[in-house]
Amino acid sequence: RILIDNFTKTFGTTTVIRDMTLDIESGEMLALLGPSGCGKSTTLFAVCGIHRMNGGRLLFGDRDVTTVSSQDRNVGVVFQNYALYPHMNVFENISFPLKIRKESKADIDAKVREMAKLVHIEDLMERKPAQLSGGQQQRVALARALIRKPDVLLLDEPLANLDAKLRLEMRSEIRRIQQETGITAILVTHDQVEAMSMCDRIAIMNKGQIVQLSSPSEMYNEPASAFVAGFMGNPP
Ligand code: ATP
Ligand code: MG
Repeated sequence: RILIDNFTKTFGTTTVIRDMTLDIESGEMLALLGPSGCGKSTTLFAVCGIHRMNGGRLLFGDRDVTTVSSQDRNVGVVFQNYALYPHMNVFENISFPLKIRKESKADIDAKVREMAKLVHIEDLMERKPAQLSGGQQQRVALARALIRKPDVLLLDEPLANLDAKLRLEMRSEIRRIQQETGITAILVTHDQVEAMSMCDRIAIMNKGQIVQLSSPSEMYNEPASAFVAGFMGNPP
């Protein structure tokens, strides 16, 4: 499990996250849902180690990673814009995290082939990112994020750049891949339908705090406040 314990984050004199605690169970996909500016990305950046925490602790299982550098945390990340390496083909993109660990060529080939099969891009290995559709690029980004079997998969608005039809397809594809790998995942979104259709639990954030944490159906049927009800599209 991933435990964010009493997390506080400040920028200058502004506190954007205050005493946030979130316990993510092993193998679950949890949605961090909330309005723009509430602190979703800031929370992900702290989990992957891009941002230092100003207060609190972060545990990956029993390992306290609060002060561990992002390179030494085993985290897979997919951002909205995929951030693939444009000059590398698909194979090179996916294998990059293994190359920098200096694994053998045979090991790398086997792992990349297995991952390409999982995300259904076996036929695209020679292509450059610019020669792929948005959905295909996102599959490559997922494969690259998962290739080191990370402790946690972080997804920050991964569907935001896709058209409506692809978005629906990739919702179920990301969920399938998450369930087949059994990876613990955090999905950041401001789309409540996405959160409800893809995740085991939803944490609703507002102004740097978690205001409710529950299953999708409970969140919809028993919102803890007018804010949650309004946000879930089920106002009283
Ligand atoms: P969105 O849905 O628009 O992506 P978010 O929930 O991801 O929003 P964050 O990016 O986490 O929001 O930002 C939370 C707050 O922290 C915002 O008020 C933002 O302006 C502020 N913030 C984020 N990064 C910085 C920074 N590097 N310096 C100063 N303030 C920042
Ligand atoms: Mg954000």
